Amino acid sequence: MTPTKNSAENSFRPIVGIDLGTTNSAAAYIHKQKPKMLTLKNGERLMPSVVLLNQNGQIIAGEEARNALVAMPERTKAAVKRSMGEKITFSMGDQAYTPEELSAFILKEIKRSVDKELGEGDKEAVITVPAYFTNAQRQAVKKAGELAGFVVERIINEPTAAALAYGLQQGDEDKHILVYDLGGGTFDVSIVELMGGIMEVKASAGNNQLGGEDFDWLLVDWLADKVVAEHGTDPREDIRGKARLKEEAEKIKKDLSFQSSVDVSVPVITVKNNAPVGLDCTIQREEFVSLITPLLDETKEKLSHVLEDAGLAPGDVDEILLVGGSTKIPQVQQLITSFFNKQPKTDINPDEAVALGAAVQAGIKSGAFSDNGLIVTDVAPFSMGIAVLSAQPGNVGKPGAFHAIIPRNTTIPVTRTERYTTTSHNQPGVEIEIYQGENKWVKDNYFLNEFLLEGLPLKPAGEEAVDVTFRYNLNGILEVSAKSVSTGAEMSVTIEDALDRSSEEAFYDSLAKVEAAFQPEEHEDASDEELNLFTPLENDNQEEGRERPDSLQDLIKEADEWKRRFTKELENRDGETEKQINAVINRLAAAAEEKNTEVLNEAIESAIDLAVDLEL
Ligand code: ADP
Ligand code: MG
Repeated sequence: MTPTKNSAENSFRPIVGIDLGTTNSAAAYIHKQKPKMLTLKNGERLMPSVVLLNQNGQIIAGEEARNALVAMPERTKAAVKRSMGEKITFSMGDQAYTPEELSAFILKEIKRSVDKELGEGDKEAVITVPAYFTNAQRQAVKKAGELAGFVVERIINEPTAAALAYGLQQGDEDKHILVYDLGGGTFDVSIVELMGGIMEVKASAGNNQLGGEDFDWLLVDWLADKVVAEHGTDPREDIRGKARLKEEAEKIKKDLSFQSSVDVSVPVITVKNNAPVGLDCTIQREEFVSLITPLLDETKEKLSHVLEDAGLAPGDVDEILLVGGSTKIPQVQQLITSFFNKQPKTDINPDEAVALGAAVQAGIKSGAFSDNGLIVTDVAPFSMGIAVLSAQPGNVGKPGAFHAIIPRNTTIPVTRTERYTTTSHNQPGVEIEIYQGENKWVKDNYFLNEFLLEGLPLKPAGEEAVDVTFRYNLNGILEVSAKSVSTGAEMSVTIEDALDRSSEEAFYDSLAKVEAAFQPEEHEDASDEELNLFTPLENDNQEEGRERPDSLQDLIKEADEWKRRFTKELENRDGETEKQINAVINRLAAAAEEKNTEVLNEAIESAIDLAVDLEL
């Protein structure tokens, strides 16, 4: 690594490291030679990767969007990371957004916090992606960063970032580091090898549909089954009930990471015959563990896979890093300890490790550290090559065979050239068809691009040669060129990155769309109203003053029921609580009088909140 020009701390360009997660996103930067988490919206270090289009047509990313997720599925989008690189759009309200645009909203919210902490102006960013992300997926993340207004300096692999966060690049020893990352929606396990100051991902495996959210839903079922058994009504059929249970389940799950049992006491989950239905029970940690054991066993299988891929035995692993919020579950730590017969490292908060490591990479890049001799590299996650005739001795050869120029797991950046010859008489040109994948035939692999190199001298088959060069850089950008050996004529393409006119226009269209929809100022008061979980969905396009009579009747009944319960409760209360109860009763009465569903819903919600607070 070249020594840096500047040594004064404050003369560095600040580059931020961003973990754009499936469930949560986070960012960090180097402060006084150390990575530091950035304080995001609402004063938190993690921000839910959820986007909401509110009723004012504005986009809001983060906690408020997450709170609206279950109740307003048609206005929210979560886990967009799973769709990165796909050419699709998601409808939200009356709008449709691409995965890049939705991710850009999340990144833009992060950028707002970055600007607050580090000052306005251009910001460079290092953004992390799972090790298995394809070229197209990496490009999509890069584009999302650019749409959000970042200059995307580099895209790095999450496990590499985690290893950097632990400072494992320091010291001279060569090491094998296993990174077990169990997040909210995905599980990834990777082997990172540190050798001669070079860090690379050797192998990775996982399941992008397995994570803490699945544990929450298993717990939702467990809780709901109890309600069904006790009250004969299924709270999952009521959208509010489902939302409330999901919220509760996640809380219980987290508590069970620190306690051996949790007393569940939810006064209101749903309503039956206008009477609130709640749940009181106790759940033991073992009960929760038995629910999630099949899923944890699956992660164990992947551990074996990844070791096999890397040609390692469990005993060859020098360090084990636990990453992702779900590794806080003690059973996960036990699983790892018994598998490797060794304790994993957990001293860095597992849900912050990736962002911190991205910041370390950013710091290395910007020169915020004094020279530490580290070169971070990654590997090509897939083989990349071209279509050729299948070479079979004594055979003419069948078209459509795949020939890898950069085999999978090649350390990048890399440049490789292969020479090919013409296959027919007087062949005037060659079609270079570029694919990515591990299959023998190109039809089974992923098509990236193609171009034609023309003007070859007309010669008998096999007498004209073309050199094809693949250049793959650390951002996962692939440049392919083909050069006629005899004439020197050359053609090249840059996959995905070279914005042609139409995609450039599309980029600026997206940029305008992202800018226009993103909520300009924080206005929490206003958003509180819109994001209320209990805002009735039907209200979306409703004109003021025109309620649907049946739901209105139901709501008035529900409000009356609450009024009755609280009036009764007044007998046992005094002081501040009495005042709060009276306020709620008055609000319910006024709402019933006004006969407006929205107002009624709000009043009922405040009643529910108070009931929860007072543990009624
Ligand atoms: P992702 O990488 O998918 O964006 P995170 O690493 O932030 O996600 O992990 C989020 C998941 O971790 C959520 O499902 C959350 O409920 C879970 N989680 C966070 N803290 C705990 C805890 N103390 N115990 C169990 N699970 C937790
Ligand atoms: Mg993560």
